[in-house]
Amino acid sequence: MTRLQTPTSSYAGRFAPSPTGPLHAGSLVAALASWLDARAHQGRWLVRIEDIDPPRCMAGADDLILQQLAACGLRPDETPVWQSRRCSFYEQALQQLLARRLAYACACTRRDIEMAWERLGMERQRHVERPYPGTCRAGLQGRPARAWRFATEKAARQALPFDGQAAPAWDAADGSLLWQDRRLGAQSQDLVHSVGDFVLRRADGLWAYQLAVVVDDGLQQISHVVRGEDLTDNTPRQMLLQQALGLATPVYLHTPLVRRADGEKLSKQHGARSIDTSTPQACRAALAAAAAALGLPVADCTHKSLADALALWVQAWRANYNHAL
Ligand code: GLU
Repeated sequence: MTRLQTPTSSYAGRFAPSPTGPLHAGSLVAALASWLDARAHQGRWLVRIEDIDPPRCMAGADDLILQQLAACGLRPDETPVWQSRRCSFYEQALQQLLARRLAYACACTRRDIEMAWERLGMERQRHVERPYPGTCRAGLQGRPARAWRFATEKAARQALPFDGQAAPAWDAADGSLLWQDRRLGAQSQDLVHSVGDFVLRRADGLWAYQLAVVVDDGLQQISHVVRGEDLTDNTPRQMLLQQALGLATPVYLHTPLVRRADGEKLSKQHGARSIDTSTPQACRAALAAAAAALGLPVADCTHKSLADALALWVQAWRANYNHAL
């Protein structure tokens, strides 16, 4: 095992792939960055398989991802967990929120929501998410429950102090959540008006990513989240949920995305190719591409062993990102 240092700190980081296909160049960047950060902090690095959306999962992709990570020298410090086996924790969290009236049942179909937006004059605009119009906040009016939603505005109004190393803050003037990303710097999002009451459990019974990720980061005592920049927008939602569930807020770092030649994000949905992990040389080449995307030096890596290349990148990572957090 490539164990550069025995974990000695309370740092816990994680890589949380959805097993929708094998690792591709983009997901390897998030995997490598989270591993490097854990090693640079002499902390633990965990892997969590986020398989709560079965229609999107590919059979066998979980084992394949774990094998590909191991071939690249990225081995978790604890046995990986599978979200599909942790649904009782998500249920408990939902019950806790329902009991505090920070979650409520929703009977709306997609069509109901569209019609409510029309009535409110909220036209569809490209790249602009419209918040849930609030139809079921006052109860289901005899209709059957389909989904469960988080009462964002109510939680925001309660605005308890945040717990954790990188506590965000509220901008009292406009109700925005202000937080710091280790790479992107100061961030803010108007959760009430731009996000609204988001889904915790979907109409098809599946758990929403937001709830599952917050519960698991909390239960696994994740202190530092390092993941792709495409997830930045989700962070304020997750912080508010952490606060509502009494969980500590981790420190966040969102990594640069690997883009295709046409500028689109590299993703499994767009047919990104699996990385080649068939030989140590192929693994080193895939890791070097990921390291380059993270701005780490790769010029003198070709003659190094996988372990030596990783050790070099841990040093470089420490110099780039280890600031105060
Ligand atoms: N499962 C998510 C994905 O593969 C990542 C979740 C996270 O890191 O918070 O995109």
